[in-house]
Amino acid sequence: MKKWIFSIIVLLLLGYGFMKYKAGIIDQSNEWQPPATNIDIPEAASQTGGFTIKVTKEMVFQGDLLLVNKDYPVPEGLNPESEAVSLVKNPELIDGFGVLDNTIQLSPRLADKFRTMVKAAAQEGVSHFLISSGYRSEAKQDELYREMGPQYALPAGYSEHNLGLSMDIGSSLAEMNQAPEGKWLKDNGWKYGFILRYPEDKTAVTGIQFEPWHFRYVGLPHSAIMWEKNLVLEQYLDLLKQQKSMSATIEGESYEVFYFSVTENNTINVPAYGEYEISGNNADGIIVTVRK
Ligand SMILES: [Zn+2]
Repeated sequence: MKKWIFSIIVLLLLGYGFMKYKAGIIDQSNEWQPPATNIDIPEAASQTGGFTIKVTKEMVFQGDLLLVNKDYPVPEGLNPESEAVSLVKNPELIDGFGVLDNTIQLSPRLADKFRTMVKAAAQEGVSHFLISSGYRSEAKQDELYREMGPQYALPAGYSEHNLGLSMDIGSSLAEMNQAPEGKWLKDNGWKYGFILRYPEDKTAVTGIQFEPWHFRYVGLPHSAIMWEKNLVLEQYLDLLKQQKSMSATIEGESYEVFYFSVTENNTINVPAYGEYEISGNNADGIIVTVRK
């Protein structure tokens, strides 16, 4: 009986410590807002510093860093269609840019990221952006693939447009490789989490021709690291896996990025403190991004 009481007291004390720790973590959060779907609060402090997270295999197949290309299809079970909305039917989302036609779909979250970016461009006098493609259903991708052929389109499920994190951006002034909009995006997109996904000098890595119009959202600090090191997503994820961690400071914000292999549901220790978000790589692991 006494043992029981002792155990209960210990559990209560542990619970108190745990709640206090959680409160401490929450207090630290003030400005940075990671995507709502990825926000998480560390569950317990580890003895060695950092925090622990329970990871599941499903996490490998969710998040902003998923690699989608000819070898890695959009994961089954992910349902980007549920988030995509027609821009024309939601005109409040069209702000500071045009859309090519009434079939363009985007998730409100991505439209919001894009809007923030084009507002910054407008301040620098670059303001003729035109979205020509956003989220594409697999049926639409299949139609495109049949129409354009394998040289110009990926099969259904293997295009980033099916993932919902990419968009084809044009200019109403000129073709993107000549338009000020193309140059501005190529040079500045990384500050807003966007990357030119198929650059001219990386066709051997991506397997895709130079597409000055195709931009992918990966978020900060990843876009900044990729820009700085001149890496495409394939190379960045490989390097991260190899090095296990990277740090970056962007406009005074410090980040640490960790790769963890995930083969089964498990608990991992992240040796850093701060708010964090998680994304899978769509292959074998997760990336934990900590903003310190
Ligand atoms: Zn595209």
